Amino acid sequence: MIDFRSDTVTKPTEHMLAAMFTAKVGDDVFGEDETVNALEEKSAELFGMEAALFCPSGTMTNQIAIKCFTQPLDEVITDQTAHVYRYEGGGIMFNSAASVRLLNGDRGRITAEMIEDEINPVGNVHHPHSSLVVLENTVNRGGGSCYTLEDIEPIYHLCKLKGMKLHLDGARIFNALAATGDKPKDYGKYFDGISVCLSKGLGAPVGSVLLGSKETIQYARRVRKVLGGGMRQAGFLAAAGIYALDHHVERLSKDHLNASLLADTLIDLPFVKSIMPVDTNIIIFELNDKKDASHLVEELKDKGILCGTFGKQMIRFVTHLDITESKVSQAIEILKKHH
Ligand SMILES: *Cc1c(COP(=O)(O)O)cnc(C)c1O
Repeated sequence: MIDFRSDTVTKPTEHMLAAMFTAKVGDDVFGEDETVNALEEKSAELFGMEAALFCPSGTMTNQIAIKCFTQPLDEVITDQTAHVYRYEGGGIMFNSAASVRLLNGDRGRITAEMIEDEINPVGNVHHPHSSLVVLENTVNRGGGSCYTLEDIEPIYHLCKLKGMKLHLDGARIFNALAATGDKPKDYGKYFDGISVCLSKGLGAPVGSVLLGSKETIQYARRVRKVLGGGMRQAGFLAAAGIYALDHHVERLSKDHLNASLLADTLIDLPFVKSIMPVDTNIIIFELNDKKDASHLVEELKDKGILCGTFGKQMIRFVTHLDITESKVSQAIEILKKHH
């Protein structure tokens, strides 16, 4: 099976497993796991942030960040496609008792102008207090579209001016960096919080880190405990994250190349109507009216290709560490023959 369903399906490599099995561990709730501490220091430093917190998932890092940056009755401004809104089970309401104002960005990318129009007037009791902006980079539902730091700078200035916080859902931030050439170190200047997934393109089995100021991360650690995310000998997992940061970042451009090769094939297929621009490792395409997405998924499954529906007539393919060049060639052959 060639599995394009998600970049979360990767299995740890032999070398990653070796790093995990030989990790030095301790009780992380006591702050005594040196491998977790090393991962937190390394990732904070990489992005020019003061501190970091290792968490079981990206949903948890995002939800903790939103809790840190809002008060009950506040409002979060984000794009309507945002993972924090669509795919975190309604957690913003549950965890933070905050409402959400949704914008209609360009493939999920919003601008300072769009945000400014939706900021509620301060001190008017009718309106929730606009306290946080959340950006996603890359944007999953935008077909892996990216912001550059140039796009982000005006949003940062607006948030500063309005006294709002800015959080980045950087589940696939390393894909964005590979595509734009921006440096992670420069990201720290712009954001109050950054979530980074280790278990997407980077190929670790578990884990995300939340980056922020020392003060933010101190409070975040408390929220993580409350959510049941305080882990003990988590260094076995953190070791996979360190290994991934050291060995699986530079190769991401291969995933992007593979995605564009697949897209070149897909666009010529009779049942494909249109395809979103492919900027990173995600391919989202629309089917002709006659073709139903869930049917196509079943048909391709019978031929050895796994992929996912992304709407009634939309399909998503994601390339990743376990999709080798030869699997891409195989998949291209299968797709070309499919009617
Ligand atoms: C995967 C993902 C997350 C985090 O998801 P978890 O499965 O909880 O790790 C957050 N944001 C985006 C855009 C994602 O794709």
